[in-house]
Amino acid sequence: MSNSIDRPVKVRFAPSPTGDLHVGNIRTALFDWAFARHTGGVFLFRIEDTDRLRVTDEYIAAAIDTLKWLGLNWDEGPEVGGPNGPYLQSQRLDIYAHWAAKFLAQGDAYHCYCSSDELEASREAQKSAGTAPGYDGKCRDLTAEQIAEFKSAGREPVIRMRMPDGSTTFTDVIRGELTFEHEFVPDFVLVRADGSPLYTLAVAVDDVLMKVTHVLRGEDLLSSTPRQIRVYQAMGVPESEYPFFAHLPFVMGQDNAKLSKRNGETSIAWYREMGFLPEAICNYLALLGWSPGDDRENVTMQEIAELFTVERVNSSPARFDMKKLEAINGDKIRELSLDDFLKRALPFLLKEEVIKGDTKEVEIIKAALPIIQERIVTLSEIPAMLKFLFVTNFEVEAESLPKIADEGAQLILKRALADLSNVNDWSHAGIEAVLRASLIEELGLKPRIAFTALRIATTGSTISPPLFESMELLGKDVVLTRIQGCLLG
Ligand code: GLU
Repeated sequence: MSNSIDRPVKVRFAPSPTGDLHVGNIRTALFDWAFARHTGGVFLFRIEDTDRLRVTDEYIAAAIDTLKWLGLNWDEGPEVGGPNGPYLQSQRLDIYAHWAAKFLAQGDAYHCYCSSDELEASREAQKSAGTAPGYDGKCRDLTAEQIAEFKSAGREPVIRMRMPDGSTTFTDVIRGELTFEHEFVPDFVLVRADGSPLYTLAVAVDDVLMKVTHVLRGEDLLSSTPRQIRVYQAMGVPESEYPFFAHLPFVMGQDNAKLSKRNGETSIAWYREMGFLPEAICNYLALLGWSPGDDRENVTMQEIAELFTVERVNSSPARFDMKKLEAINGDKIRELSLDDFLKRALPFLLKEEVIKGDTKEVEIIKAALPIIQERIVTLSEIPAMLKFLFVTNFEVEAESLPKIADEGAQLILKRALADLSNVNDWSHAGIEAVLRASLIEELGLKPRIAFTALRIATTGSTISPPLFESMELLGKDVVLTRIQGCLLG
């Protein structure tokens, strides 16, 4: 994306956190971040919280935490500050009030006294007449008497922006030149009757005052662009200083409908809880609608920053594919160093109360992690996989009990108990050598049959990390006691 303005690139992410940030928000944030990093520009983070009924402190804190967790560090915004703060719109209300008053004084905006019933009636009339919906301009040119009448009736006005006749044309970096006929962009509300500003006013004022050069955001906001441009005009911003717009295509669910709670998990908090790694989420979302120029599927944050250009953003919608995200997550888990893997695994084990966190337990976990690193897709699988190492009252899960109750399985367990009692080299290789010689070679059993019985008897389940490694980790005494406990008579 070109930057013909003689200013350094400044790109902003400006969510209105009315809940946890979702996949679409984060893809936007990631592209904003990547664009800023690629161009050596500034990544600005602004919280659009003028609607304090829906945007709560809790959601704001969660949004900040999510961005930090993902590694999308910002240069200007909450916590870090910057020359254009404050970065929470709720702390900038006097600024919006100032501009609204100025627009009124200039005649760019006007007070509108229409009641909600009147607006509703006008909407109905437009519907039955088949005309374009939107404000009909009734209060555009009120006389002093009319205004006095409304006032004496106790009506509180909103402030509306006057849209002139004609059209707005701008070049969207992803979509090319776009024209909006004002016939379809009715006069819009800037300030509610209670004095609170609306999004369109606050976003445009802030983009100008914060010197934003590029607006990369979701295409759901495309239709508000002509309104924002109207606000720039009223502010007296020369056209050459308008930010560049790039509207990112929607993220669709598997069923090709827009991704929503209905057709997929959208909340980033959910992915975090499930044990997706932030670098896997960023890797996957980066490739959702953008291509690094080749068919690589594994990209690091550094590569995203190095390679990101808006020219390579696809203009058609991207389809969210959970299987692909899982595959990337598994790959990223396998890339972790043992210490890093341990650091990320511990919170999951503590949360499920598999361990309390003492040094001895952490050592056991550290020894066990390498044997499951190849096998898991998400970190939330770890507690169930490693629980068997810590249970004090060992019990075989109910559904596996029948599999070790029959005569054949009991024979295997008896024989294994005798053989293992004599093992001196309690390493996984030592254990395996003894069991293979006895159960497979001597008794001629199929490995799957022999080792399933042992797996159940020692780990309590048919699903566990590799058997011999698990036995090594449990230690000889525990293994022998558990097998003994599974013998029926
Ligand atoms: N605050 C708006 C939202 O979260 C987005 C603002 C923008 O990117 O222009 O929907």
